Amino acid sequence: MAGNLNVTVWNEFIHERRAGGKPMEIYPAGIHVALASHFSAQAGITARTATLDESEHGLTREVLDRTDVLFWWGHLAHDKVEDAVVKRVQDAVLDGMGLVVLHSGHAAKVFKNLLGTSCGLKWREADEREILWNVAPHHPITQGVAEHIEIDRHEMYGERHDIPEPDQLIFISWFQGGNVFRSGCTFERGLGRIFYFSPGHETYPIYHRADILRILTNAARWTGEYSARAREGNGRRPDLRKTVNQNVPLA
Ligand code: ZN
Repeated sequence: MAGNLNVTVWNEFIHERRAGGKPMEIYPAGIHVALASHFSAQAGITARTATLDESEHGLTREVLDRTDVLFWWGHLAHDKVEDAVVKRVQDAVLDGMGLVVLHSGHAAKVFKNLLGTSCGLKWREADEREILWNVAPHHPITQGVAEHIEIDRHEMYGERHDIPEPDQLIFISWFQGGNVFRSGCTFERGLGRIFYFSPGHETYPIYHRADILRILTNAARWTGEYSARAREGNGRRPDLRKTVNQNVPLA
């Protein structure tokens, strides 16, 4: 495989630092470290992390220019993410950076701004069984993924999820309480590919599951494909939006 895929995993990193809590027990170093460690162990992938408390939330221009795909996990502190950083991430996506938005990241400013809708949904914490149905077995994100995935207990996320019509629906979830949810969706904005994937409530060990990690690794490769190619040469993704809106005479 030519080139190397650079993954950055961003996490607000609040739940896992609360002493005595379930998230700390499941992810002692944080969700971002659990995911980045998994990605780093995959061939051709280099992973780093960034968190809310870091300067510029760890998402400087320098970091984003070299990031092929950004994973986003947030829940309690969406409003604490600085607008300047949100804009920088949006621009990076339009320039071709991949973005994978996880679970409660549905309400992140980055996601809502890129999609243009409220992204609101129904939810319930009742330890319900969830079955994710793989409705796109031909898609790169589902390579090596079974026809359905069962999660014994999870938070319910239900329709209607106020998102624009996805470019492609990859997973649909059924919940024990009767709700359904579009749990895996792709969107394209500018040159960037976006994947939203709902499993990952912080009190369940979802990101330790091999089947879920397989999906996330596939998603990293698929959403980051263009950027990794565009960075070949000088290591940074070119700012292609600078070339639009030019008055070019006939040759
Ligand atoms: Zn949740």
